[in-house]
Amino acid sequence: MGLMDEIELRLLPEDDRKPVPKPENLGFGIHFTDHMFVMDYEEEKGWYDPRIVPYGNFSLDPAAVCLHYGQAIFEGLKAHRGEDGKIRLFRPYENMKRLNRSAHRMCMPSVDEEFLLNAIKQLVKVEERWVPANKGTSLYIRPFMIATEAYLGVRPAKKYILSVILCPVGAYYSEGFNPVKIFVTDKYVRAAKGGVGEAKTAGNYAASLMASEEAKAKGFTQVLWLDAKERRYVEEVGTMNIFFAFEDEIVTPALSGSILPGITRDSVLRLGKKWGLNMVERPITIDEVIEGAQSGALTECFGTGTAAVISPVGSLHYKGIDYVINNGVTGPLSKRLFDEITGLQYGEIEDALGWIETVI
Ligand SMILES: *Cc1c(COP(=O)(O)O)cnc(C)c1O
Repeated sequence: MGLMDEIELRLLPEDDRKPVPKPENLGFGIHFTDHMFVMDYEEEKGWYDPRIVPYGNFSLDPAAVCLHYGQAIFEGLKAHRGEDGKIRLFRPYENMKRLNRSAHRMCMPSVDEEFLLNAIKQLVKVEERWVPANKGTSLYIRPFMIATEAYLGVRPAKKYILSVILCPVGAYYSEGFNPVKIFVTDKYVRAAKGGVGEAKTAGNYAASLMASEEAKAKGFTQVLWLDAKERRYVEEVGTMNIFFAFEDEIVTPALSGSILPGITRDSVLRLGKKWGLNMVERPITIDEVIEGAQSGALTECFGTGTAAVISPVGSLHYKGIDYVINNGVTGPLSKRLFDEITGLQYGEIEDALGWIETVI
C-alpha cells in the first residue's frame, strides 16, 4: 500500500458525538472516543480501504481465526496535551516497529510504519477534543491486528483487520507516586524462550491472569515473573519491564526472547547512559535481588511501561518472606526518571533526543 492512499473519513454528525468525560473520572480503558481507524487485509490485495469511521462493533464470522487460535497482536502508546495546548506522541516509530515485529512472530502481515503513524495522527486530530489537558492524563492509543478469515484449520489466516481505538485515561498516580507490593511467583511463568513472550500478542495476557489474580487475592499489586526453565532469573513485573539499582550499576534483565522489549525500558537505558550512570543489561537472579534487598546494596527497584511510566517497587514477597526495598519509599532515581520522561511527554523539557512527534 502506498503512502498516497487516502484515508476515507466517515465522521459522525456533531450532534451524535458523545460528551467527553471529566478528567477526574477517566480511569483506564473505560471510555472510548467517537471514531476509530480500520483497514482490511487480504492475501491477494494487501491492505486496503483505510478509513476513519464511527466507533462501533466489528462483524466477525464465528469461525474467525483470532477467536480460536489467537492470531491477535496490539500496541499501546499515548498522546499528551501540554500546557502549551500542543499534542505530542512519545517515540511512536518504536511502537510501529514493534507492531511489525509482533506481526512477523505471529505470521501476520506487516504494515507500512509511516502510513500507520500518519493514520494515528489523523485519528488523534479528529478526536482532538478527547485529549485531556490535566497533567498525568492522556489519550491512550491502542492499535491492534486480528485474523478474521473464517477457517478452522491451524495455519496463518489470509484475512486481517488492523484497527486503532482511543481512550482518554486518568492520571496513573492520582493518589501519589507510591511503591507497590510485588509477589514473586515460582509457580507460574509468563513466557519461555522460543515462545512468544517478546511479541505483544493477546495470549500472553490470558496466560498471565491466574498468577496476578492469585497475587491480588493475597494483597499484592502484581507478580514478578521468573524464567520458565530454572525459576531463577528475573524477567518482568506484571506487564512492565523491571530495573534494579545497585550502588555501582543499574541492571535490567537482558532481552532473552521471553521478555517484551519495552520502549520505556529502552528510554530509561538511554537516559541513564546520558546521565553517566552505569546501565547494564544482563541476566539477574532472584537470589541476587533478595541478597541486595537484605544487605541494602539494592537501593531501588522499579517497573517501566507506557501506562505507569515508572512504577516503584516497595517490597518483594518471595518464598513466604517480605523483602523491603528502600524502606518502602520512592527513591531518587525513580523520581528523576519519571519527571524526565513525563516532562518530555508534556513538552516541558527540551526534546534533545528527538523522541517527540507533535500531532498538533
Ligand atoms: C507493553 C509491555 C511492556 C512495556 O512496554 P512499553 O513499550 O514500555 O509500554 C512490558 N512488558 C509487557 C509484557 C508488555 O506487554
